[in-house]
Amino acid sequence: MNIWLFIAAASVVLAATALGMYIRERKSSLRLSNELAALSRQLSNKSDRDALSGLLTRIGFDVLLARRAQKTDRSGEPFSLLYVALDNFGMLNDGFGSEMGDRLLQEVSRRLTQSGEKKVEACQVSVGEYAILVEGGYQFGRKSAKRLSDALAVPFSIDSIRAQLTCSIGIAVYPEHGSVSKLLGNAALAMRSVKQNGGADFCLYDPKMGVEVREQALLFNDLRSALDKGEFELYFQPKVDALSLQVTGAEALVRWHHSERGLISPVVFIPLAEQYGLIGAIGGWVIEEACRKAARWRSQGLRMRVAVNISGYQMREDDLVDRIEAALQRHGIQPDRFTCEITESVAMEDTKVTQATFDKMRNAGFHVSIDDFGTGYSSLAALRKLPAAELKIDRAFVSDLEESEDARSIAQSIVNLAMALNLHVVAEGVETAGQRDILVGMGCHELQGFLFSMPMPAYELERLALDEHEPDEMGFRKSLFSETYLGKLQ
Ligand code: C2E
Ligand code: MG
Ligand code: MG
Repeated sequence: MNIWLFIAAASVVLAATALGMYIRERKSSLRLSNELAALSRQLSNKSDRDALSGLLTRIGFDVLLARRAQKTDRSGEPFSLLYVALDNFGMLNDGFGSEMGDRLLQEVSRRLTQSGEKKVEACQVSVGEYAILVEGGYQFGRKSAKRLSDALAVPFSIDSIRAQLTCSIGIAVYPEHGSVSKLLGNAALAMRSVKQNGGADFCLYDPKMGVEVREQALLFNDLRSALDKGEFELYFQPKVDALSLQVTGAEALVRWHHSERGLISPVVFIPLAEQYGLIGAIGGWVIEEACRKAARWRSQGLRMRVAVNISGYQMREDDLVDRIEAALQRHGIQPDRFTCEITESVAMEDTKVTQATFDKMRNAGFHVSIDDFGTGYSSLAALRKLPAAELKIDRAFVSDLEESEDARSIAQSIVNLAMALNLHVVAEGVETAGQRDILVGMGCHELQGFLFSMPMPAYELERLALDEHEPDEMGFRKSLFSETYLGKLQ
């Protein structure tokens, strides 16, 4: 064979082999790159979603929001952003444990995204708080908020536990309520405004909300240092025996002397302290100070029972009773001379922690009073189980006594109920002689209100009590303060 022919044939074979190898190589690299692309698509899908709940991650949601806003910018079709916060999740989680809490949250995620005809996109912003994107302007936003609230209101059954949730929802509409970067914050402001008004509702964002929140933030900043600066003071309001008008005790009501704003009411700063974790420290100061004042009065021969308001957050502190007992011991006060006033709504919370605190209070022998009674939903069975010694008729019924038949019926029912359960009954907010006469006629044991005395600084109460020249009928004479009620309630 001609050498040139051999070389040409060999070249053809080599080229064919190389081409084959190249094609095989190319095919496998194409397959590889297709596989890689699919994998990366899967991966990016996965990192967009939370594995457990199936909700979008925060990053995934932000991307979705930005794209949806671009669409609005082109087409003008608005969308709504809902900020949903569960009102009582923390309490359920504390009461029943985090495992039940996790399962509850999974079911919440499912209901939030699948309760309508169409699946909606949502992400969890923090525990128990969600952002949800809804097509359409505020009318659609409101409809969705209503639908979501209804979906969450259906009781959850987890193992043998039935839990009921309510939620607060803030709605912000794009583009009306701010740029993409502001929208979620504004929806959260609207949600917070719902919470401040009692929760379990929804509302639309209003630019005024930002101003209120900034105002609250400023106040909170000052509140943090108020204890160290010694800006709190306890005022005391006497409780008097309905028949003898003798002073039987005094309720401690905290006041904040703000350096620039003057005297600030507890109605303004206690909710702020509760919301942002300062109530433990402020409540602790109130207990200590009330015990100190009670010890001082005692040393002067005044044997009033001292009452302190205990907030729901304090009831959930597991060492509350130990700390009160330690304060009582430090100041030499008998536990049954110390009244804990707990509002009806908190007292009826059926959580393990709250009930455990009540059990400890019973064992410690404190005098427990159910405050603002008549505004909550007490069951007789629950009331019987509490270590309560006293019910306080809420001021709302007392103020309407002279005009409203309903208020009179409610007040009389509370007095009857208290008597049936062998409880002491106190009426708060008594302002007129007419109200006093009706309450005495109903069989109320004690009265408290502006008719007898405004809340006042401890030194003033002391001065009135010790001043023998004060008029007799106010019951502020030393003799009237001493040893009142000791015999009756023990
Ligand atoms: P509360 O415990 O039900 O206290 C009664 C409130 O009614 C007090 O308001 C008192 O000043 C007011 N009041 C008393 N008599 C009358 C009256 O005849 N007419 C009218 N219109 N009002 C009367 P205050 O001191 O502003 O306290 C409001 C609420 O703040 C209290 O309601 C209590 O829930 C809370 N609070 C006060 N001090 C403390 C505290 O040290 N700790 C906690 N956790 N809450 C507190
Ligand atoms: Mg009270
Ligand atoms: Mg009250």
